[in-house]
Amino acid sequence: MSKKERPEMTRKEALAVLHKIYNAVGWHLLSDGVSEEEKALNKQAFAAFLTLDVALHGEQAKYYSDGLCRLCYLRMGMEGILVHAKGQSFREPCCTTCFEQLKTENKIESIAVWDGDDWAEKGAPLCNY
Ligand SMILES: [Zn+2]
Repeated sequence: MSKKERPEMTRKEALAVLHKIYNAVGWHLLSDGVSEEEKALNKQAFAAFLTLDVALHGEQAKYYSDGLCRLCYLRMGMEGILVHAKGQSFREPCCTTCFEQLKTENKIESIAVWDGDDWAEKGAPLCNY
């Protein structure tokens, strides 16, 4: 690919694309019956993402609940808040931009707020952040 054909993309955007691809197709590496090589590859993939997340987003990116937004992978999630978006299986870190978009689209199932000891679940009607 020549320089002229190179798409305009930041390193963070490129890493976000890889995260999303892995989320879409990497699950089979966790299923029963995978080979030892595939299990090792999955561990390497996790370590590779962690290495690049920290390199591009800073040390905070290595923490799950206060780490990268798991929707866009472009920004850090809101501190002390996890979001369960409709159609998702888990509560995940979410940045303010994605949170506002989910609110606009009415796609918030619930949120959980860290109260210092545990995560306190709050229903969608209470999502007034
Ligand atoms: Zn986001």
